[in-house]
Amino acid sequence: MTAIANPSVSIQDLSLNFGAISVLETLNLDVAEGEFIVLLGPSGCGKSTLLNCIAGLLDISDGRIFIKGKNVTWEEPKDRGIGMVFQSYALYPQMTVERNLSFGLRVAGLPKEEIAKRIARASEILQIEPLLQRKPAALSGGQRQRVAIGRALVRDVDVFLFDEPLSNLDAKLRSELRVEIKLLHRKLENTMIYVTHDQIEAMTLADRIAVMKGGVIQQLDAPQTIYNRPVNRFVAGFLGSPA
Ligand code: ADP
Ligand code: MG
Repeated sequence: MTAIANPSVSIQDLSLNFGAISVLETLNLDVAEGEFIVLLGPSGCGKSTLLNCIAGLLDISDGRIFIKGKNVTWEEPKDRGIGMVFQSYALYPQMTVERNLSFGLRVAGLPKEEIAKRIARASEILQIEPLLQRKPAALSGGQRQRVAIGRALVRDVDVFLFDEPLSNLDAKLRSELRVEIKLLHRKLENTMIYVTHDQIEAMTLADRIAVMKGGVIQQLDAPQTIYNRPVNRFVAGFLGSPA
């Protein structure tokens, strides 16, 4: 693996066991500042587990995790400088969109004006201004997912983690939001780690794709390299050219 100077996220010898079962074993991954990394692999290969370790939602069994040079291995999720978007939108159903966006910021004690400024910016970027006074039940799936992304956006974090954010959407919305996420990344220039089992999503979004199988990264390369020069039969079968 090529070394990356000053990685935005650095995962070093990470292992994670659930009881006697090893899900991730001495996994290493460096993500460059501003890079869009896709974790791609079949269901059950450990993608969500890895993302949850980075987010601090799971205690790791061994290894270290650095974000922006800081060892966050034992930091609370809220102190890691990350924003996470899940497959199920995880919005608060009883709150308006505006409340959903502001809730975490209020809890963190941010001044009102700053909260308003961040919500205005996020809702402009994601084009959800007309939805601010609605509740999640009155939104379409695509709108809900925009709000979920907005909630990560208002936190003004350096690193975004996405766990299959588009899998609950129909094909048309999926391709629309794929484009929006790509544009969002161009605009924000932040680091994104994006989990999917969808090859097309990976090919279109990623600067580099980490192809995973059984908790192990099989290949970490640019989409074209993976497509044209898969390192093994698994990668070839999952994503490589049929030749
Ligand atoms: P993916 O996101 O790639 O579909 P996961 O990270 O969810 O895969 O799961 C990886 C493996 O870990 C699977 O075999 C799954 O059954 C197992 N696993 C996930 N969460 C738990 C848990 N809380 N307890 C025990 N095993 C789990
Ligand atoms: Mg998963």
